[in-house]
Order: sequence, then structure tokens, then C-alpha cells
Amino acid sequence: MEACNIVERELDVVLAKFGAINDHARRVLLDIVDHILSLKKQFEDAPTNHELTPEQINILKQAINKVRETVQLFLTDHRVSHNSVSKVGKAIDRNFVSDFASTSREDVFLGPDKVQLLNQVICQHFYRQGMLDIAEELAKEAGLKAEEDNKEPFSELNRILDCLKAQDLGPALDWACAHRENLLAKNSSLEFKLHRLRFVGLIKEGPSRQAEAVQYARTHFPQFVQRHDKEIQSLMGTLLFLPQGIRRSPYNHLLDPNLWVEICDVFTRDACMLLGLSVDSPLSIKIDLGPECTYHSVFACPILRQQCSESNPPLRLVCGHVISRDALNKLSSGNKVKCPYCPVEMSTADARHVYF
Ligand SMILES: [Zn+2]
Repeated sequence: MEACNIVERELDVVLAKFGAINDHARRVLLDIVDHILSLKKQFEDAPTNHELTPEQINILKQAINKVRETVQLFLTDHRVSHNSVSKVGKAIDRNFVSDFASTSREDVFLGPDKVQLLNQVICQHFYRQGMLDIAEELAKEAGLKAEEDNKEPFSELNRILDCLKAQDLGPALDWACAHRENLLAKNSSLEFKLHRLRFVGLIKEGPSRQAEAVQYARTHFPQFVQRHDKEIQSLMGTLLFLPQGIRRSPYNHLLDPNLWVEICDVFTRDACMLLGLSVDSPLSIKIDLGPECTYHSVFACPILRQQCSESNPPLRLVCGHVISRDALNKLSSGNKVKCPYCPVEMSTADARHVYF
């Protein structure tokens, strides 16, 4: 606990410094922006072909100098604030044991029940991808039981999805109709979207299918009027353009081929939700904690106090400390370098590129 308090005290210093720099910078920047904007306005108001008087030239020069000086001041502020940032790092080094072993444990998949679980996840992944024969072979070899129950929902979903991809709506419509109540309870638009595609399919054929299209609308759309009234209105609007074809009508967005891509996604998502399955395979899920957990992955070299770049990347020394390549080149003599922090001596070739 004491260790945390020490680090926290250093952090408070950093935060206070950053706060002060930030307030100051904002004030100065606003002043400069105002000034530049007023100069810009004067330029715009000046008559065309107006030549600058020596006095105006002077004012401009002063403005440019002011901007340069301010940038310089910000750079100095940034460099100075680095002292307190590196104190936090040193406080962490001094007060905590650096043991990274707990972040990667090789034993998590050891033991028969864990191997079994792992095989099960891999097997489900294959079912999910529609690779039934591979999954079955694996289940047999690994001695997995009760795979029949796991297999059925996936093989049904894959079969329907294959038909959807081939623009065959039948199986998906049957499935949606059979699960109507549960789908509605989850606020799903799947069934409506499927009917919409089938209706547009009839409309696309032109006046010869008009009677059929009207009949289809009468049979299927009333149940969706409450939730999809606007969409149904525009679907009905397409009937006006049957003679000329809806491609040349305000409704041509209904022919967008992306609607078929979308329906596959909607089906997969809603069907998985209904069956209590995750939409993506656990093996292919990337961990995404959302924008609030995205941090500024920038590394500033603690030695040169400048941000690293592709041409000057961060390098991890054998001891674990990280400095920029330029700093390493400056500190090294021959092919040996002494860590500026520990100071462990090592060969420069042992430094490893770090990726954030
Ligand atoms: Zn070191």
C-alpha cells in the first residue's frame, strides 16, 4: 500500500503540472488565434492590389515571431514536464517488484479437463464455420461427448445462411416464421427485412408480376405496419414506378446489393442471439474494450525527451528499460551500451524493437 501511495504522490505532481501547462497553453493559443483571425480579416477587407505598408509588414513579422516563440515555449514546457513523468517511472521501479510472469501463464492449458475444454472450443469453431467433417473427426479423436447437441444449431444456421448467400430466402423465412414470437421479443426486424427483399424481388420483374406483388404485400405486410410503417409506405410507392422500372425511380436504393450482405449479418446476429450463442467464434474474437479504454499509445524517449517515430523507434534494453534508437546510438560506444537507468551493460544488438 505504501508503494502505491508513493507512486500516487508523484502522479499528483505530474497531474498538477500538466493542468497548469494546459491552462496556460489554452490561454496563449486563444490569444494568438484571435490575433491571427483579426489580421486575416484585415487582409480580406483590404482592396485588391493593395500593397502592404512598412508598418503592416512589421505587424505581420511580429505576429510570425510570436507564433514561433510560443511553439518554442511549449516545447520547453513539454521537456521540463518530462522530469516529473520520469520520476513516476522511477518511483514504480523502486517500489514494485517487476514480475511479468503472471501476465503469461503457460500452464493455463495444462491438465486433462483444460485440454478437453480447449478441444471443445476448437470443435465448436469448426461447426460454426460449417466445416462439419473436420469438427466430427476432431470430436472423435479427442473423445468429446455430446457433440450432437452442439452441432445441430450450427449446421442449421449454416444451411440457411448458405441459401441466403445464394439469394434463396425460403429457408430463412421459414426459420423466422417459426421463431417469430421470440424474435419480436428481442425487437428483431429480421422477418420484415426478409419479406421486404422478396417483395422487391417481385417488383424488380416489372408489371408482369404486379398482381403477385400486391397480393404478397396484402398477405405479409399488415403484421409489420406498427413497427415499419414508413418502410412499408415506400415499398408501396414502388408500385407507381412499375412500368418504367424502379431502377430509374426514387426507390432504386431498394435494389442495393448490400441489402443481401446486410440480411446475412442480421440473420446471423439474431439467430445467434436467440440460440444463446456468441455471434463470433470465441477463437476469432478480438478484445475491444471500446474507445474509453483506448489509450494514447505514444512513446516519448526519456533520454532525448522527444516522441518516438518509425525512423526512431523505441528499443527495449536487456534490463527492461526502453529508450529510443537515437538515444541508444548516442549512449553506445562501439557495440556496447550501458543502460542509463540501472546501469546494466549490454551489446547494442540485444536491444529489441518495441511495438505499441
Ligand atoms: Zn536498465
